[in-house]
Amino acid sequence: MTVLEVKQLKKSFGAIRAVDDISFSVKAGEVFTIIGPNGAGKTTTLEMIEGLVPPDQGEIKFGELNWDKHADQIKMKIGVQPQSSAMFDLLTPEENLNLFSTFYTSARPTEEILELINLTEHRNNHVKKLSGGQRQRLAIGLAMISDPEIIFLDEPTTGLDPQARRNIWDIILQLKALGKTTILTTHYMEEAEKLSDRVCIVDQGKIVTLDTPASLIEQLTQEREVHLSFIDGAEAAEQAELFMTKLESVTRTERNQASLKIWTTKPEDTLYELFKFTKENNYHVEQVSIHEMSLEDVFIAFTGKEWRD
Ligand code: ATP
Repeated sequence: MTVLEVKQLKKSFGAIRAVDDISFSVKAGEVFTIIGPNGAGKTTTLEMIEGLVPPDQGEIKFGELNWDKHADQIKMKIGVQPQSSAMFDLLTPEENLNLFSTFYTSARPTEEILELINLTEHRNNHVKKLSGGQRQRLAIGLAMISDPEIIFLDEPTTGLDPQARRNIWDIILQLKALGKTTILTTHYMEEAEKLSDRVCIVDQGKIVTLDTPASLIEQLTQEREVHLSFIDGAEAAEQAELFMTKLESVTRTERNQASLKIWTTKPEDTLYELFKFTKENNYHVEQVSIHEMSLEDVFIAFTGKEWRD
């Protein structure tokens, strides 16, 4: 079931086309991630969907509901992670949650939210004393207080250390287990790959590609990158490189001293030929690995640009 549909969304700020014709739909219960480099248009897209920024053009529908006619109904359906500045620093997490719950006609018990965001232990500390990760968890808790069907999280892990980031991932997975729909933005590819049912890669206001992480990566796997190094040093690597370039399946090679990278359309066949060659010539391979393709490779393949976190 589709819970959100966005069609031909556009937004410019002066000469900057922040969002340039974006369309997608989100299904109930999925983690849908919008990923892209800085300035790609992620936040602007989210803010238009959340009803915070009016689009120049396009359509946003939550089932049959739209912002023009059904704003109050939509507000009951969605939860938006507030920027940390919207929290009250001199109140505790518990007091913040209790306060936010008074904004809604029905709310999830504060106790339950504290548990979900793993802040029960810190319930009575002032927010200003919390770490960055704890504040972000509270922000997610505040988005959850009205028990919404759809939760919007805008870069909830940016700037957090790896452990704090993982704690947020756990919460997102718990939201999924509760049957919630989560729309997430991030510029961490690993995060998108781990959490998302579907990933929408954006760059310069446009969708580059959209699919499940596995399908996006699968599209690339015609060519794999094999890394090798030789105990016998640069000469062995050079000879192996010469031999490999003659194989039909090998499209490219790159050598640095005793290390060799090979791009091949048939990794198994190529490795079989390689080991036959090294055995015959009494060369010894120290290490061999097949580079795992990731969403980073998808981004590079579609945009021709390097990916930078
Ligand atoms: P980041 O990862 O850095 O948050 P983003 O993908 O969320 O980036 P947006 O914040 O949506 O990108 O910005 C898209 C483009 O629109 C950027 O060039 C940004 O400078 C510009 N922009 C966004 N909001 C405004 C605004 N209120 N006024 C002028 N320009 C804006």
